[in-house]
Amino acid sequence: MPGEFELIQRYFDRPGLNDQCAAVSLGIGDDCAIIDVPVGLQLCFSIDTLVAGVHFPVTADAELLARRALAVNLSDLAAMGATPICFTLALSLPEADSKWLHGFSTGLEQVARVFEISLAGGDTTRGPLSITIQVQGLLPVKRALRRDGAGIGDLILVSGTLGDAAAALTLLDQDYATLDDCQQYLWQRYYDPQPRIALGRALLAGGGRCAIDISDGLLADLGHILERSGVGAVVDLAALPCSSALQSELLRKGQPNDASKLALGGGDDYELCFTLPEPLWQSMKAELCALVPCTPIGRIQSAAGILTTTGEPLSATGYQHF
Ligand code: ADP
Ligand code: MG
Repeated sequence: MPGEFELIQRYFDRPGLNDQCAAVSLGIGDDCAIIDVPVGLQLCFSIDTLVAGVHFPVTADAELLARRALAVNLSDLAAMGATPICFTLALSLPEADSKWLHGFSTGLEQVARVFEISLAGGDTTRGPLSITIQVQGLLPVKRALRRDGAGIGDLILVSGTLGDAAAALTLLDQDYATLDDCQQYLWQRYYDPQPRIALGRALLAGGGRCAIDISDGLLADLGHILERSGVGAVVDLAALPCSSALQSELLRKGQPNDASKLALGGGDDYELCFTLPEPLWQSMKAELCALVPCTPIGRIQSAAGILTTTGEPLSATGYQHF
């Protein structure tokens, strides 16, 4: 078993992970990391902790876990419109298991390469398995996509499809090889969320002001936008984008009418929910949809709460830890 310093050097302070981004002027190896922040840009950061037994099973595959942990963090940067530059990693490990560490650092490297972000530092301690990742990104000064940026009359849009990850929850403990194509797609949607970095950047560049990533479910996360912006919304249930894989899985389970329930309440999709004035949407539509299909699902209005187009109230409850 490697010691602490050997472990850091072997698995984390290595090419592929620590050399992806030139903005990191000093990375792993000193007391602090140093980041270059060009004039006119602001540093933007977010942190998340995943605890074994709470957020994932102790036996979860290390490579998948790493990919998911980093992707979920990057999704927060996407929701601000930020360009990711680096991340730090605080690991608490019950033991220095070489196989686990190899899988974990491989998963990190895969995502780090895609988004050209460096692992700039971290902390390694012995204890129950827990993974804390902090991501850092850059933003033009005072231009972030914020939860309080929704305006009355704005369209509400979402990227991709909703409810896929929630539909995968009952599949996660099954052997992947035994799942059909649709189920494998849903399983991937849960384990391999795609942080919508390019979409967030395009929204920001085009004059967008408001976005959130959907981690706790559309109603809950749209609810955060509404609360912060001091507005309400009308949502068209028939417009909610659902994948054909989701529909076929629900059909198989004899629950063909549950798609909108999952789309509204299911978490873990890590799509973006954003608002745009309609003329801006019309002018940006082609550019945004070339990155990922985006669908208008409703409109911001002054009256608080979320209503359907037929006037029924929808309650904004997602998963809460306490
Ligand atoms: P200190 O005692 O000054 O906090 P450490 O001994 O904890 O320093 O870490 C030594 C170096 O290794 C630091 O640059 C730190 O950022 C880095 N490091 C420690 N653990 C990790 C990790 N899990 N991933 C990446 N870098 C790490
Ligand atoms: Mg330390």
